Amino acid sequence: MSAADAARIPQLLTALRLPTIKRLWPDIAEQCDKEGWPAARLLATLVELEVADRSQRRIARHMEQAKLPAGKHLDSFDFSAVPMISRAHLQALASGDRWLVSGQNLLMFGPPGSGKTHLAAALGRELVEQGYRVLFTRTTDLVQRLQAARQELTLPSALEKLDKFDLLILDDLSYVEKDQAETSVLFELISTRYERRSMLVTANQPFGQWDKIFPDPSMTVAAIDRLVHHSVIFEMNVESYRRRGALAKTTSKAKEVIEQTAD
Ligand code: ADP
Ligand code: MG
Repeated sequence: MSAADAARIPQLLTALRLPTIKRLWPDIAEQCDKEGWPAARLLATLVELEVADRSQRRIARHMEQAKLPAGKHLDSFDFSAVPMISRAHLQALASGDRWLVSGQNLLMFGPPGSGKTHLAAALGRELVEQGYRVLFTRTTDLVQRLQAARQELTLPSALEKLDKFDLLILDDLSYVEKDQAETSVLFELISTRYERRSMLVTANQPFGQWDKIFPDPSMTVAAIDRLVHHSVIFEMNVESYRRRGALAKTTSKAKEVIEQTAD
């Protein structure tokens, strides 16, 4: 190969969008020349490196687009605080299982501090690492965005854009405010995804108090129906994790004081 040929390689690799080969080929080609590799081995090595890097770049991009809250990982989640949820069940969900393919939903109910956001975000993170596409959003933010889209007559395309996500995490559904409920964008979102694309919904309030989230009672019933039809429900009726932590600290502090005074 002439030096002129080699000089064109970087430009050609850029045109083909092969950044990893562009970065690594000079060293690998040199090793190949030195060790007398068959040509097929050189080609396979370079192509495999590009493919591996490309999948990592895709996952990194999806992780950024998922907008997951930072620092909420599955391995920092204390399952003993929510005895009604088994680690094995969660791990099955985190592997993608079949639930995302069939558009099933996951609903998490529990009082503030019970770990809904942490668990939802941790699950989302695992799924992105498995190659799924996830979007985490506070429900009120998404509703606001969809309402704006409706005003601009672009609601259908806004809903279609959300279709690329295998899982939409709607955090704190019960925080949707009265004036937001007056448009039915949330209902349209739920209907659009029904039986096709999965949603993970967290809420402090169980269904009985969802009347204020939708414009009228029949729509509330219809929305709940669609969410629940193919779903897994986690009822996380536990004491706030933070308060438990604080309580444990105070108790041990109190014990310390008692022990010291007893001496
Ligand atoms: P919720 O969304 O139900 O109000 P969060 O997920 O925000 O609750 O939890 C409150 C805080 O407690 C967060 O900092 C979260 O990381 C932590 N937390 C809650 N449950 C657990 C748990 N089981 N293991 C570890 N941390 C937890
Ligand atoms: Mg929360």
